[in-house]
Amino acid sequence: MAVNADPSVVVIGCGIAGIAAAGKLVKAGFRNVRILEATARSGGRIQTGRLGDTVVEIGASYIHGPSEENPLFRLARDRGLLPPEALTAENQAVAMGECFPGVPNWFSSSGRKLSSERMNPALEMFIEVLDATSQFVNKKETTWASVGHFMRSEIEQRTAERWTGKDATTKALLRCAISARMKEECSANAACTMNEVDLLGFQTYKHLCGIDCMIPGGYEGLIGRLMSELPTELVSYNRPVRCVHWNNTDKRETAVMVECHDGEAIAADHVVLTVPLGYLKRNHSTLFSPPLPGVKSLSIQTQAFGTCNKIFMEFDSPWWDTGIEVIYFVWEDEEDIVDQVTDISKFWIRKMSIFTVIKSSESHVLCGWISGHESEYMESVPEDDLRSSITELIHRFTGNPQIIPRRILRTQWFHDPWTYGSFFNTAVGFSEKDMENMMAPLPMEGSHSQPLQVLFAGEATHPHYFSTVHGALLTGWREADRLISHYTPRG
Ligand SMILES: Cc1cc2nc3c(=O)[nH]c(=O)nc-3n(C[C@H](O)[C@H](O)[C@H](O)COP(=O)(O)OP(=O)(O)OC[C@H]3O[C@@H](n4cnc5c(N)ncnc54)[C@H](O)[C@@H]3O)c2cc1C
Repeated sequence: MAVNADPSVVVIGCGIAGIAAAGKLVKAGFRNVRILEATARSGGRIQTGRLGDTVVEIGASYIHGPSEENPLFRLARDRGLLPPEALTAENQAVAMGECFPGVPNWFSSSGRKLSSERMNPALEMFIEVLDATSQFVNKKETTWASVGHFMRSEIEQRTAERWTGKDATTKALLRCAISARMKEECSANAACTMNEVDLLGFQTYKHLCGIDCMIPGGYEGLIGRLMSELPTELVSYNRPVRCVHWNNTDKRETAVMVECHDGEAIAADHVVLTVPLGYLKRNHSTLFSPPLPGVKSLSIQTQAFGTCNKIFMEFDSPWWDTGIEVIYFVWEDEEDIVDQVTDISKFWIRKMSIFTVIKSSESHVLCGWISGHESEYMESVPEDDLRSSITELIHRFTGNPQIIPRRILRTQWFHDPWTYGSFFNTAVGFSEKDMENMMAPLPMEGSHSQPLQVLFAGEATHPHYFSTVHGALLTGWREADRLISHYTPRG
């Protein structure tokens, strides 16, 4: 497609949304495109690291729903980056949301390994009740205060009806196992507690078919490939933007001027802003001049951006069963269905109930998942205290004081000054209207000034695939398409 003008476009942020927007514009014939990135690297929340010799994902791990309908799957597949099993028709046909597959290992806070058969009813009950939330798809209202409130009530009712034949000890243990699974769900939603996740908003997320897969060698491999297909010099690194001056009415100048932290001023006809919602929430009042229209800034303030972190731990040898993919830690003293702790500074580690096994032939690495305020607190725990808390936790649950993690690496997304959290979630107060406001270009409808001065992309602006890499990718393409059709002669 050829465009009939040569407008200057500045894309702010070189995560997947920024790369997608710039890539599509360049391919459409836009010659005056550049990306300004605050950090020294591309990829944003796609970041691959190492723990010893093991490749670990600091940011996104999975391609969620890897099947034909998922554009990210197609991009990775076409570049030969996917493992053979992800390419099979059977894998692509599985509808499984974000559940981790495979038989788990269970350990309890009294140092016992629990049998999978005994704990299975807890997982089955949890999945059944989670699935039951889908009855609220397309509903306009509900009396339930949140996903957590609905699920807890259903769990109480269904366990009272169904678990009558089980002894009191087993029932109590299974309830604690449900708590462990509930904390895992908090991580999937970067939520403090499922009591803060909106029941109707939760249904707006659309699952794609396919068993979640990873990119062997690291997610950043995909970023490397996409960047290699773009003109060199497209990106200016270490170039944080301080302020977007828009609505310039002086006809001799461009409508927008982008002011960088180093003082450079860049004139642009259009800006595609892809910074994370966490960054926007903290900085929107100074990032725009004139300030954002009230409705847009209100939506940014109302919508939620949560924290989910990972703690990677390497061991000399595995203390889990061969071939398992997931380990749960069950606190036996939790009477209610619990998904948050009361005294964070003392008990933050209780929030980390699930560990995934990192596939590697040579090393033995686990990834612990932790979300919410407990996760935010964890980020600033001194290194030595972190190590001793984790070591104590593992001793307690395995009953084996000989196990010592060789290396530990934690992610710290809440303290990342260009992100301030991990990803969007549909917290109580979510509304589709707010999402529309967040993605609406500036000037907003009804204005007579030059259209499409500032366009908004990024994970948090996708109405159904928020919180994902494929969602972010699609928003970049969406905003590029908006500009392309603006400059494409009709007919
Ligand atoms: C721990 C974690 C686990 C995740 N797991 C998954 C997963 O398994 N699967 C999945 O699909 N998704 C996952 N996600 C979400 C996924 O990573 C994001 O949705 C996606 O990468 C967001 O892309 P983006 O381009 O919208 O934003 P980003 O990747 O955040 O890119 C925004 C860019 O803007 C830059 N920037 C910020 N401020 C400025 C400024 N003032 N000036 C210039 N540049 C600026 C940032 O440095 C960044 O590079 C996870 C995220 C996290 C944090």
